[in-house]
Amino acid sequence: MPRLPIIAGNWKMNTTPRQAVALVEEMLVELDKVQGVEKVLCPPFVSLGAIERLIQGTSVKLGAQNVYFEEKGAYTGEVSPPMLAELCQYVILGHSERRQHFGETDEFINRKVRAALAFGLSPILCVGETLAENEAGRTVEVVTGQVRGCLAGIASPQGLVIAYEPVWAIGTGRAATGQEANATMAVIRDTVAELYGQAFAQGLRIQYGGSVTSTNIAEFIEQPHIDGALVGGASLRAAEFIDIVRQTATLKGR
Ligand code: PEP
Repeated sequence: MPRLPIIAGNWKMNTTPRQAVALVEEMLVELDKVQGVEKVLCPPFVSLGAIERLIQGTSVKLGAQNVYFEEKGAYTGEVSPPMLAELCQYVILGHSERRQHFGETDEFINRKVRAALAFGLSPILCVGETLAENEAGRTVEVVTGQVRGCLAGIASPQGLVIAYEPVWAIGTGRAATGQEANATMAVIRDTVAELYGQAFAQGLRIQYGGSVTSTNIAEFIEQPHIDGALVGGASLRAAEFIDIVRQTATLKGR
């Protein structure tokens, strides 16, 4: 069974609610036309409701950028899985910016992955090594450790997507090469096979993330283990994001 490619736009902490609606209006018709690729927009929390209404009846899907692991209660400022589950299908977890700025550990991310899955959300679980780890030849050790740690004790992560994002490639304009990324992603797939069996691992979608643009997307999409991309900066430009999605459909769509 071929894996359906998935391109997700991580808008990070960009766009006010009005700007977010305007951006979706700029890209929605063209994104909707592209078949054979799952298209996911991940705007800030405050825009999820408005965008959910905008994309109704289209093929475009919605994701959040974070979630807390408790269902409800006295956790001022947090957003729970059932709140998100009414609005969107995906949630980005373990992004390196959350690991770096908010001290999120694999154990903490693991609690979020469990909570997301329990409420039917599909986690886009981010893993990736820092530049120092890469230069020390520790990429495989770090990335497989993150996969195991974030999925520890989870029996069946249905709907899971993994995003391999080398930290040194995020927002830097210095992407990995397609071959480099593919090699690490093959190891991620092997690790998932050890945890959940070959059938699950062969069906798992793994995205590359880190300075993806319309200029380099083809290099990634042509690789056998790369099933799409998690796109940051380039997803904030309508024409650029549409181009990335179209190229993915042409190269890998079915
Ligand atoms: C990201 O935010 O996950 C990301 C990969 O960002 P960028 O594409 O800007 O490097």
